[in-house]
Parts: sequence; structure tokens; C-alpha cells
Amino acid sequence: MTALELAAAVKLKKLSVSEAVSNYIESIEKNDKKINAFTAVSKEKALSCAKKIQTRLDAGEDISPLAGVPIAIKDNISTEGIETACASKMLGGYVPVFNAVVIEKLEQAGMIVIGKTNMDEFAMGGSSETGAGGAVCNPWDLTRVAGGSSGGSAAAIAAGIAPIALGSDTGGSIRQPCSFCGVTGIKPTYGAVSRYGLIAYASSLDQIGTIGQDIEDCAAMLEIISGSDSVSGRDSTCIIKSPFSFDLDKNNIKNLNGIKIGLPKNYFESGIDSEVKTAVLAAAKELEAAGASIEEFEMPLMDYLIPAYYIIACAEASSNLSRYDGLKYGYRSANGKTLSDVYRLSRSEGFGLEVKRRIMLGSFVLSSGYYDAYYKKALQTRALIKDAYNKLFSRYDMILSPVAPTTAYKQGENVDDPIKMYMGDIYTVSINLAGLPAAALPCGFDKQNLPIGFQLIGDAFSEKKLIDAARVFQSRTTHHLNKPGGFQ
Ligand code: GLN
Repeated sequence: MTALELAAAVKLKKLSVSEAVSNYIESIEKNDKKINAFTAVSKEKALSCAKKIQTRLDAGEDISPLAGVPIAIKDNISTEGIETACASKMLGGYVPVFNAVVIEKLEQAGMIVIGKTNMDEFAMGGSSETGAGGAVCNPWDLTRVAGGSSGGSAAAIAAGIAPIALGSDTGGSIRQPCSFCGVTGIKPTYGAVSRYGLIAYASSLDQIGTIGQDIEDCAAMLEIISGSDSVSGRDSTCIIKSPFSFDLDKNNIKNLNGIKIGLPKNYFESGIDSEVKTAVLAAAKELEAAGASIEEFEMPLMDYLIPAYYIIACAEASSNLSRYDGLKYGYRSANGKTLSDVYRLSRSEGFGLEVKRRIMLGSFVLSSGYYDAYYKKALQTRALIKDAYNKLFSRYDMILSPVAPTTAYKQGENVDDPIKMYMGDIYTVSINLAGLPAAALPCGFDKQNLPIGFQLIGDAFSEKKLIDAARVFQSRTTHHLNKPGGFQ
């Protein structure tokens, strides 16, 4: 069942909220040894929440379209009373005393947190292999990566051990694991969802979004989490006052007449697997058949997207992660004899390799003498990228592109080659640099039966348009309905 179907069944009393929660927790207990999607399961808390929501529903309260639905939360989103460690030894054992705004909103909407999902350490990565508790395995082929950094959330949905999940996307971390695992996700416009309680990686790029079995589930949950929070000023970059409201009526799926979609032709010229290319171009044809007009264009600045992103993301990461010093926050080494030893050893022992690499890169590009040459140039490039998108959206309603150049690769294949790993983000990072929304949707499989995804990118706050188009696509195709075998 999709999350919306599950909520409807609960409302009709076909099953109780406690049954819904127990079923999923049992399924996690049975299956998660194979995929390692969860870092924590909050059974007792979830069951007691379930009871409270059942009471409200029994009293006839119309809570929300997703009331009674269990949800999995990425391990970098603060959950009161449930360990939130960003899959890092640095935060191992940390149990927040407050909820992120998105969690407050989900709980008000009657949704129940059942556990935290595995990820790349501090959301830095594209494969979900660097978490302290080991790699997430792709449910379609357990020897392969699930994509990252929200790999646990995407894998949990693909395997059917959670009905819906939250992820975060700094440079592709919702969309890319969705593509690798064959599920649907939305990365909202920067400023549409409060980041209060999201443990920061790169604050000017981070955004929380939804991962689910289809676009309607993702959109329904985005309605719930979007909009600023009741206590003003907790995230001053969250600038929409009221939440999104989409038309998700099944009888109301229109066509795409009059919609203009831009296709960046240089995305398909080199560096992309031929099977990915074929499937993504077929998705464009499908949208054309639904009434959209497709026009090719040349994406400018392509050589600068990855460098600009990695300079900015690492610079912000080095600053954000400076708080983990063994004193104020996080893991403290037992071996430090002097103050500087405590700092050095705590950080050396508490962080993994990729996180350290990025802190070093970030500190370097921000250091005096290099700041102008790297960081300032990257910011100027970011402004050019934003300008380029502004021009494109004066011509097109949306842009269609691949999510990743390949399907899921073997675990261990890229961990020692950071540049190769970073190049896998070529189609996703510019969207974050420009603060735009994008929806990732499954569009086929390669010969090895591994899922392929594409993304629809829109102008700022054009989520409704993207969701309408995505609904048209999913009403005409069945890719999102495929499930991997082997899970109960
Ligand atoms: N793969 C990108 C990175 O490593 C994106 C990560 C993310 O979106 N959190 O930075």
C-alpha cells in the first residue's frame, strides 16, 4: 500500500494505527539485516504514539491525509528521545531533547516515527557507504550501493519496510538514492521547508524533502512539512508562510498541453551510460506524448558545476563541523593530555575519512591567500549558474534531466576515488546551488535489472507544476510500481 492508501485504510478501520506500526516494525526486524537501512528503531515510542493517534481518530478528528502512517527519518534530522547521530561516531549516542520542525509538523499531522535511517556520515557522499554502522545495501542487488546520502530512506521504501520517509538533499542526496533504488522523491525549493533541527552539512544548500513510493505520497507529505514554523526565527531562511497545497485528486490528472520542457542536450553527449540515456529520453517522449513540447538546449557552465559545488559545500561544512571539538559537542577522545590534544584526537578519532577530507578542503579554500582564488570564485560561479537557470525558466516550464550518469555501482567500487564519486553528482548539484526544486522519478531498468531515474527541475517555488507533471507521468507509466523481490 502507498502511504495515502494506508492512511485511508486506517481511517476506514480496516486496520488500526498500532497494527500499521507493528507490521512495519516487524518487517524491519525481519529484513533490515540484509539492507542495513536503519540505524535505530523506536518501537516503544512509536507504539505509544500510535495509541494516541488512534484515540484522536476514534473521536472523529480529521487529522490529515497521512494520519496513522509510520515514517522513517534520516539520521541527520533531530528526533526527541531517539538517537540522532548522522551515522557518525562523532555523534554516537546523542539523543536530542527537541524535535526538528519537520518532526513537530509530522506528529501534528498524526504520522509516527518508527526509526532513523542510515546515510553517508554527515550526509557527505553519494553511496551511503561511509556511515559508522556500515553501508546500506541496494534492495535490487545487495552487492551494490543504495546511493546517497539518504540511501537508508530510499532503500527502506524500495524494500517495503517503511511506507514513506524523509531525506535531505544538499547536492542530490534525495534524488540520487531514489534513482538507484527505483523510488520517488522531491527536493523542495530552498526556503520551502524549515531546516531547524536538521544537523547542518552546508547550510546554504541543505533542504529536507520527501521520499516515497509515488509522487502523490511525496507531495502529500510535502504539504505537511512545508511552510515556516509557529515559532518565528527558528529558520529565518524558510520564507514561505503557509504550506503548499496541491491537487492530489486521482480523478483530476490532466495532460501536459501547453507545458514547455527543456532538455539539456549536452547532458547526454558523454559520461552517461547508454542505458540511462535511453531510459531518460524515453521519459521525455512519454511527456511529449502527454502533450508537452520538448526543446533541446545547451546547458552552460557544465565544467564549473562540480568544482563550484564542492568548494562551497566543503567551505560551509568545515565551518559547521568546527563545533564538534570534543568539548562543546560530540565524541571526546580519552587520550588527550592537553587542550589541543583533546581537539586533535577527538576530531581525528570521531570523524571518518571523507568528512575529514572535506573539512580540510573547506579550511583550505577559506584560508587567507586562497579565499579569493577559490571560495570567492565559486560564489561568483554560483551567481552565474542562478542567472543561467533564471534565463532558462523564462523559456521553459521545467527542465528534464538524468539524475545520475550511471545506475547503482558495486559497493567499494568508488570509495577510494573521491573525484569519480564527485563526478556522479554532475546532474544534481547545480539545482542546489540555484536553490531550485526537483522531483526524481523512476523511468526504467538497465539490463542488470537496476532502476534508472530522471528528474524534473522547476523554477523556485514551482513545486505544484512539477508535481502535476510527475502525476501525469506516473499515471501513464508503471516503473514506480516495480518492487524488488526477497522482502516480506
Ligand atoms: N553527493 C553530494 C555530496 O557528497 C551530495 C550530498 C547531499 O546532498 N547531502 O556532497
